[in-house]
Amino acid sequence: MSRSDPAGKTWEQIAAILRRTVPRQQFETWFRGMRVVSLTPERVQLTVPNNFLREWILKKYRGLLRAALREVLGADPEVDIAIAEDGDPSPPAEAPAAAAPRVDAPSAIESDIVLNAQYTFENFVPGPSNNFAHAAALAVADSPGKSYNPLFLHGSVGLGKTHLLQAICHLMTSRRPDMRILYLSCETFTNHFVTAVANGELDGFRFRYRHVDVLLIDDIHFLANRERTQEEFFHTFNTLYNANKQIILSSDSTPVEIPTIEERLVSRFKWGIVARVDPPVYETRVAILARKVEMHGLLFPDEVLQFLAENVCSNIRELEGAVNKIAGMARIYRRPVDLDMAREAHRDLGSPATTRISVDGIIRKVADHFGVKITDIQGKRRTKSIVFPRQVCMFLARRLTSHSLAEIGGYFGGRDHTTVMYAFEKIRSQSQSDAELSKTLERLSDGVTS
Ligand code: ADP
Ligand code: MG
Repeated sequence: MSRSDPAGKTWEQIAAILRRTVPRQQFETWFRGMRVVSLTPERVQLTVPNNFLREWILKKYRGLLRAALREVLGADPEVDIAIAEDGDPSPPAEAPAAAAPRVDAPSAIESDIVLNAQYTFENFVPGPSNNFAHAAALAVADSPGKSYNPLFLHGSVGLGKTHLLQAICHLMTSRRPDMRILYLSCETFTNHFVTAVANGELDGFRFRYRHVDVLLIDDIHFLANRERTQEEFFHTFNTLYNANKQIILSSDSTPVEIPTIEERLVSRFKWGIVARVDPPVYETRVAILARKVEMHGLLFPDEVLQFLAENVCSNIRELEGAVNKIAGMARIYRRPVDLDMAREAHRDLGSPATTRISVDGIIRKVADHFGVKITDIQGKRRTKSIVFPRQVCMFLARRLTSHSLAEIGGYFGGRDHTTVMYAFEKIRSQSQSDAELSKTLERLSDGVTS
């Protein structure tokens, strides 16, 4: 179905609703091979690859299909499902791409980052750890400037923030090619600003940033310590916000936790919706793995998926790394993927980040290293010999776990998030000039597990 074909576009909308409504696995099983033959408000003709699918869809999903049609067409058409003439029971290879928003279309996206065509909503596996962020991102992509403004996504590295931001871009450009979308990293925004100031081109800079319909800035926490850029961003924000333009930001921490960010920006960030992405739970990890394996065109046995989901917990990039590694091994060894291969891959990749790290584990390790008592680290004493190991613990907890600053504070007798932030900054800057400390931190990081 070509892009200019209105039936094709309408079908994409319908498919998007189905995707949102039924669990991914079910959508893949039942609807992926579905094709639209014709589509009018009176009658919709669809095909599926075989009779089994047809019967099942009619039995289980007829109501849902009609509801989706009603939502998109504003009518209640008759639904015909036939068997495709070239009926092939296996799902067509190009199916996901055909259903995904087209990223090669002329679009109004302006960005110096090439958007990753794989970072779509279709390829994003929702779960309890990211449901809220996922739903908020969809809502914003559906009605930019109207639902949640700004949308502020935060969470530690490798958990899907960039993926969601780009998914919003893809969906918006496919639906609203008329919109001007500006997607960039915080670094780029900063660099543009600095250059504009240096060249006396602030007017041009302002025109560019303040005349868009949607502004997405990834990793906004890099605004920390950049006062003039913050000031400029503050005005950009206000102008866009007042004109009901959508602003979407991602960060590695909550607005309040970004060090040295101005209070007035923090409060603006909180005007809309602040959604957090957490590390995925076990079931989501399995589903993500299955998805990534499928994208390689491979099949891993369930026990391999389970092994990886159990052993690679910290972030999704690590899960992808494991899949890539195993896929490569299968090619080299020329044999099907099995548990031994997965074990070997995991051993090779084995970095501390691939094991589950707990704050308690960190405290144990650090207490042992400095020869202090765990209860002292968690207690109230402020002597130097205790304060320093405590700060090291906080630093490592921030670096190696996905807990928020406030949660980390909780492990140290309920200290508040600014204390943790201070400790983190202090140890970080100290380790930059103190090679001994830097080595100690590395050794400690290597040694901690759950
Ligand atoms: P972040 O920006 O939070 O550091 P990314 O968006 O770069 O993380 O995600 C890291 C990798 O994990 C990407 O390749 C992305 O596609 C993948 N990923 C993250 N979350 C999901 C998810 N829920 N479903 C599928 N893939 C995901
Ligand atoms: Mg990112």
